[in-house]
Amino acid sequence: MIVGAGFAGAVHARQLAEAGFEAHVIDKRPHIAGNAYDFVNENGVRVHAYGPHLFHTKQRHIVDWLQKFTEFAPYSHKVRAFIAPDSYVPLPINLNTINVIFGVELKNETEAKNFLASVAIPCESPKNAAEYLYSKIGVKLTDLFFRPYTKKMWLMDLEEMSASVVQRIPINYDETDTYFSREEIQVMPRNGYTAIFEKILDHTNIEVETNASYEKGMERDYLYCFNSMPIDEYFDFVHGRLPYRSIRFHHRTEPLFTQEWSVTNFTDSSPFTRETSWHVLPDHHVNPTGNVTITREEPCDYADNNFERYYPVKTADGRYQSLYAIYKNDAKLLPNMSFIGRCGTYQYLDMDQVINQSLTHVNAWIADRLA
Ligand SMILES: Cc1cc2nc3c(=O)[nH]c(=O)nc-3n(C[C@H](O)[C@H](O)[C@H](O)COP(=O)(O)OP(=O)(O)OC[C@H]3O[C@@H](n4cnc5c(N)ncnc54)[C@H](O)[C@@H]3O)c2cc1C
Repeated sequence: MIVGAGFAGAVHARQLAEAGFEAHVIDKRPHIAGNAYDFVNENGVRVHAYGPHLFHTKQRHIVDWLQKFTEFAPYSHKVRAFIAPDSYVPLPINLNTINVIFGVELKNETEAKNFLASVAIPCESPKNAAEYLYSKIGVKLTDLFFRPYTKKMWLMDLEEMSASVVQRIPINYDETDTYFSREEIQVMPRNGYTAIFEKILDHTNIEVETNASYEKGMERDYLYCFNSMPIDEYFDFVHGRLPYRSIRFHHRTEPLFTQEWSVTNFTDSSPFTRETSWHVLPDHHVNPTGNVTITREEPCDYADNNFERYYPVKTADGRYQSLYAIYKNDAKLLPNMSFIGRCGTYQYLDMDQVINQSLTHVNAWIADRLA
């Protein structure tokens, strides 16, 4: 039995089916694909229902595995930060961002590194996100690009947040204006993500049921259960709730326009964090109608958004990771169930990470059973 038809559940189901096991996948939502679900809307534009999903990975074998189920279009993701009307700068921060914000004319990587070193506040072991960012880019860039954004995204000051949340944000000392690093493979599925799931789950040994919630004891009828539901919910929140930040999506229609980048970040203190122009993504302007769809994101607590769990909360004191460790220990006592995926393991995971973990986990389980 597999709870959840997102990447974690679907990858488990496929590998099990190919190894000769029968997999019954249930999902409480009316659709497959989990948070990667996308569809073509009334403007003929492909929209990702749970926010823009850009595929990027350093692991070739994940792309190879997915290529059994989709063709990919090459894509280089670009993000701009809105500074003022008609003024946008590249994110992650690059040479041009620094030049615009400080009114300087740095020409190369060495000058950019030296300049940032001159404004940075050194700190050997940063205890929180603020100390980490100040030690890398100084006060002005931190307070402009990260302070209000973090507040609205996480409802926390940078000082309250773990440095690990911002450590993965890159800085480009040259004119590179792509969001992900050059070492990463960046591609988008030609027919969208939902079509990938239709193919992954299309196997005689797989049965899929949507609009079907997990109920206690269901797993009794099965050899084993791989469960991607929230781990605290499974245990009826006995030790307390594992909180998440969520996002409300606001869609609007506009006449077709061209733009070099697909995502605009709002670093000011307005309620919105970013805006996606879906038609700019490859193979997303599916049926041209003259109109396109733009989606703004407004972060909120998951309790204010129907308990839609998006981002696990990471505080500097690690209190929720400690709470998760208690649930994880309880789960170890369940002989025929393991928790998988983003909400099963209470971590923010990109799609490639979920696929990688799922392949490793299920292949080991299969090898063990067949040994
Ligand atoms: C806003 C946002 C943007 C993102 N952007 C990117 C990106 O650009 N690139 C990237 O690589 N990753 C991105 N991700 C991460 C990506 O969404 C995850 O890696 C992926 O969805 C994880 O798959 P999963 O199967 O673990 O979880 P999910 O996709 O959430 O699937 C879990 C499924 O379990 C179901 N379920 C839960 N409880 C129950 C229950 N009780 N009974 C039955 N079913 C249940 C849910 O309905 C859901 O469909 C983003 C995530 C978010 C939230």
